[in-house]
Amino acid sequence: MTSESELNTIERDLAERLRNQLAEVVGSTQVLTEQDMVAGYVTDWTGAWSGWTRAVVRPGTVVEVQQVVSLCRDAGVPIVTQGGNTGLVGGSVPHRGEVVLSLRRLTRLDPVDTISGQVTAGAGVTIAALRDHVRRSGFDYGVDLASRDSATIGGTIATNAGGIRVIANGDTRRQVLGLEVVLADGTVISRLAGIEKDSAGFDLSQLFVGSEGTLGVITSARLRLAPLIGGERHVVLLGVSHPSQGLELRGPRVTALEFLSHSCLAIVSAHLGRRLPTTGEHPYYVLVESSRLPQLDPNADAVVDERLWEFREAITESLSTQGVPHKFDVGVPLARLDEFVGEVELLDGDVFVFGHLAEGNCHVNVLGPTDYETVADQVLGLVVDHGGTVASEHGIGVAKGRWLFHTTSPAERAAIRRIKHALDPQGILNPAVTFAPEE
Ligand SMILES: Cc1cc2nc3c(=O)[nH]c(=O)nc-3n(C[C@H](O)[C@H](O)[C@H](O)COP(=O)(O)OP(=O)(O)OC[C@H]3O[C@@H](n4cnc5c(N)ncnc54)[C@H](O)[C@@H]3O)c2cc1C
Repeated sequence: MTSESELNTIERDLAERLRNQLAEVVGSTQVLTEQDMVAGYVTDWTGAWSGWTRAVVRPGTVVEVQQVVSLCRDAGVPIVTQGGNTGLVGGSVPHRGEVVLSLRRLTRLDPVDTISGQVTAGAGVTIAALRDHVRRSGFDYGVDLASRDSATIGGTIATNAGGIRVIANGDTRRQVLGLEVVLADGTVISRLAGIEKDSAGFDLSQLFVGSEGTLGVITSARLRLAPLIGGERHVVLLGVSHPSQGLELRGPRVTALEFLSHSCLAIVSAHLGRRLPTTGEHPYYVLVESSRLPQLDPNADAVVDERLWEFREAITESLSTQGVPHKFDVGVPLARLDEFVGEVELLDGDVFVFGHLAEGNCHVNVLGPTDYETVADQVLGLVVDHGGTVASEHGIGVAKGRWLFHTTSPAERAAIRRIKHALDPQGILNPAVTFAPEE
């Protein structure tokens, strides 16, 4: 890996001058350069992706973001925008000295617009903070995920995050009514009026959803809210022989539908120091949350308990205690799900599969083999063979770019390159992330 020590003297002087200019904009305490201060910003949540940075900059206003972006552009220094740094594909950390633009201080939270059921939130607001805020007004936010205490509005929009409520509310894209974005040239576009139906040309805001910091810096969002569902919540864990058996539980009262392999349940039980919750062992388990107790076969091995969520939510954390797994977040057509999961579990290493069942989303984690590329070729190769997507909800980051070569056409990749060039001609925004690999 390149390190700052390899910068030549001219570049070091330029970096020093840039740091001073950045400090004039945001204040010297908001420009971090010391090793121990930047450590949490240069390595990702998994520990698998790490790099170095010329500086971490923490602007507190949109105007400061504009000035920081302009200074970096003028200096020709690339930027990695960062929210909660919970991304799992290496897109949130610097790789070759990029300035880290941390937006955690953009915590604007407007009062809920109860007439339209909408709210405007700053990019640095966490999902948990947004949820608490809107619940006080009788609403809910439609996206929820286990990283809620750190993942931000900006980051979840930039990755089009999914999570456990997609079955009821759709993905993040569905919640976004408009955005405020700082472009690579330092100008701002703002669509925060919250117009529910707008056919006046392109929906420019939607272009930035899922763009992973490569097209602009999202500073605020106008979000659609979901109704707050009160009353009873039944959480059931059911042992099954194939994940698709759980699809029979779909229905209007279902607010979450997840599946996990036996290997996942076993590792979480060991980590939490608890017994398996079901009576027997099964190849897979389905976790359903519903406002009405689902009708189950009287012979089903099922447990009902709201605390069962812990077994689902602690999977990622339990796996990370065993090492750094190779992580793949993929999706396959529902008709191919059982076949895909069965085949992926036969691959080399310890394979753990879980995901959001109703969308055919599978989180495949592999412990054991050391070489990422070999494991990626096997897992993503199976995904392509089954007509799936190599990024179901975490995005492309630096982990999966070359695989888009297999799932996009040359014409699509050429169009993507033209859009990127039009909005970021100098290529300063998250340059390590590409959606259009070269042939
Ligand atoms: C325990 C755990 C559980 C998870 N569960 C889920 C899940 O169920 N579903 C799911 O989809 N993901 C999940 N994730 C992944 C992660 O939480 C999401 O990808 C989340 O959307 C990242 O948000 P963040 O604020 O941490 O973004 P970061 O990790 O900081 O950044 C992610 C990407 O977005 C870009 N970005 C960040 N902020 C901005 C901005 N303001 N403007 C432009 N670009 C920006 C970054 O450059 C980077 O490319 C999980 C992660 C963990 C650790």
